[in-house]
Amino acid sequence: MTKPRTVTLTTADHGPVTLPEPSWCIGHPHHDPDTVRADLAHTGEDIILKFRGRPIASACLDQAPHADVASREVRVSVSLLGQALDARGLYELAADLDTYADRLRDLADSLLVIRAEGDL
Ligand SMILES: [Zn+2]
Repeated sequence: MTKPRTVTLTTADHGPVTLPEPSWCIGHPHHDPDTVRADLAHTGEDIILKFRGRPIASACLDQAPHADVASREVRVSVSLLGQALDARGLYELAADLDTYADRLRDLADSLLVIRAEGDL
């Protein structure tokens, strides 16, 4: 039986705090010891949306186990929204992005027709 992973992080208000380290957390290599315990957070690998090599948005697993205000549950932080979503919210966002992608394709189709007709 393997021992559960833990991580000990120095905080400004509670000194060293030891947390269970979830398997999806990428670790805390840039931890700031001035962080307060409520702001400690586990973070997963970023999933990045790029267009022509330029990052547009990212999303990652996120959890603040001692959060005062935000949820302490594991969620996904979505940079496009500036908020974290649960699984249901992510499915809703993905559906809306699918719809948006379809509308972009419709606009591209319209643009081709307009240009072919010389209606610019
Ligand atoms: Zn962690």
